[in-house]
Amino acid sequence: MSAPVPTANVPDVVRLTLPDGSVREVAAGTTGAEVAAGIGARLAKDALAVRLNGKLLDLSRPLPESGAFEVVTPRHPDALELYRHSTAHLCANAVKRLFPGVKIGIGPAIENGFYYDFDPGRAFTPEDLERIEAEMRRIVAEDNPVVRREMTKAEAVGVFRAQDDPLKVEIIEGIPDGNVSCYEQKDFVDLCRGPHVPSTGKLGVFKLTHAAGAYWKGDERNPMLQRIYGAVFLSQKELDDHLHRLEQAKARDHRKLGKELGLFLFHPWAPASPFFLPKGAAVYNLLVAYMREMYVKYGYREVVTPQVFDVDLFKRSGHYQNYRDNMFFTEVDEREYGVKPMNCPGHFLMYAAQAFSYRDLPVRYADFGRLHRYERSGVTQGLTRVRTFCQDDSHIFCTLDQMPAEMDLFIDLVDEVYGTFGFTDVRVGLGTRPEKFMGDPAAWEKAEKALGEAFTRRGRTFSVNAGDGAFYGPKLDFQVLDAIGRPWQLGTLQVDFANPENFDLTYVAEDGQKHRPVVLHRAVLGSLERFLGILIEHTGGSFPLWLAPEQARVLPVSERFVGYAREVVERLVAQGFRATGDESDDKLGAKIRRGEIEKVPALLVVGEKERAAGTVALRRHGSGDAGSRSLDALVAEMRDAVAARATVWGAPAVAPAR
Ligand SMILES: [Zn+2]
Ligand SMILES: [Zn+2]
Repeated sequence: MSAPVPTANVPDVVRLTLPDGSVREVAAGTTGAEVAAGIGARLAKDALAVRLNGKLLDLSRPLPESGAFEVVTPRHPDALELYRHSTAHLCANAVKRLFPGVKIGIGPAIENGFYYDFDPGRAFTPEDLERIEAEMRRIVAEDNPVVRREMTKAEAVGVFRAQDDPLKVEIIEGIPDGNVSCYEQKDFVDLCRGPHVPSTGKLGVFKLTHAAGAYWKGDERNPMLQRIYGAVFLSQKELDDHLHRLEQAKARDHRKLGKELGLFLFHPWAPASPFFLPKGAAVYNLLVAYMREMYVKYGYREVVTPQVFDVDLFKRSGHYQNYRDNMFFTEVDEREYGVKPMNCPGHFLMYAAQAFSYRDLPVRYADFGRLHRYERSGVTQGLTRVRTFCQDDSHIFCTLDQMPAEMDLFIDLVDEVYGTFGFTDVRVGLGTRPEKFMGDPAAWEKAEKALGEAFTRRGRTFSVNAGDGAFYGPKLDFQVLDAIGRPWQLGTLQVDFANPENFDLTYVAEDGQKHRPVVLHRAVLGSLERFLGILIEHTGGSFPLWLAPEQARVLPVSERFVGYAREVVERLVAQGFRATGDESDDKLGAKIRRGEIEKVPALLVVGEKERAAGTVALRRHGSGDAGSRSLDALVAEMRDAVAARATVWGAPAVAPAR
């Protein structure tokens, strides 16, 4: 809330420096709109707000001081935020008109648009949203002036009591004494610090996208409100592009596909903890098997470690002090235990219990141990944020001098794994030493250099996130873009100078003395649960042949060919493929449709001709009829695609999106 400007301090003349360097002097009390009009009629017409000394102000406000001045027009970088926030008010205006009893909460601008929270006492339906949007367009056509009003807190409480908006009253009562500002547009008034566009006619490029439940002030102890989301852009083209991307994302939503494809489910008695059904578990285990194969190739050794530890371990690692709120605890035999949120402390115990010399390093421990972290139920979302998961987690114990070689090995591994899943656009960020850090600055420098140079040696770029490292070491983040261009953070490599001290980790160096190793915490896929969610969204649920839970389904054209269909299934299963037969009474067309919906990569149609010739007619998922081939030829073809872990099996008739 902006306090009123004391009149005594207002100068007689205000000197405004325009972006071109010229200076305009105007009398005190002149508004931004008047200055814009003085510059030109066109500018006055386009003006949305002004920026004075970096602060956005309404056009109607008297300019309070001298300084750098510019007029915000639709081409200005600030315009979008103004449109988004003003469209939020527009939405609340429409809701109040259509549903007079509905109470209003807050409505900020967000990425791509805005949201507004309401307490309607029931969920908004899609029809409600259509009506609200139509009413919003009506208010745009009315072109009502948007007027800023400053008033005392008590006056504002009166205004919102009168219109029965207790949520607003609650907000006002929670702010320090003094004046508050409200924005009025004809029949609607909202508490807001502003600024806003000068009239509702300036708005129009928007679309209400959906409504969802949201706790008042984001706190699950508060009542559940209804949040309406809207998209707002500068041009219709940008809005349409955004809506198209939303459609694509919706079709790929892993929560929806997980249900449709029978991959996983949730139950309220295990909040935010996925149950993988046989098909989901098949994919999950194939991911683990793949990473195990990579571990052998890249010199990691897998270990199996406990899940529940005496809290003394977590006191030593610092989790007890710093990560308590995210952990699960239990008491047995009057001892307090914690369920591990990370594998590292267990690995440190294991390392410390053995004696290592420089000849043994680097030691690379990999662990698929189950981890538990408490996430507030409000923030959990399908597989991307869960309370129980495992990671392709490893800890490397090495010397600082070994870091460049370790980095090379790690980047090769990351490249191979991401390439396998078709993630070709990988972005790397290097988080460097923060202000508060532990350890030797020279060691930090050496480690940061090793992390960065590993990429420059390969002619690859990375962005430096200065000061973004953990207090105990620098880190690398790997981000990939999925098939529709959305970024996902996947891999990390975190250098750790602290825990070798905490756990007194040593190795005997060539000088015969004990030295501290460096620990590298690293993951390529991260949480497998989350990665599976991302992979579902990336592939739209059409897993590559090697990962598909059901690779082939045999479809007899009628009951007469069930016998031959079974033979084909048995042959495929004997060859190690995940194959089934559709022996339902449905017509062939229905069987094919079901197979397509369930995204089975190979649908094998068998009838008279196929039985006689010992062949199958292949339909590839997504590209349709691929002709007949002998069973042997099919097996060879599938085996090659699986061995190569091909992202696309056979030549698709249509290129996949992007
Ligand atoms: Zn506002
Ligand atoms: Zn770790």
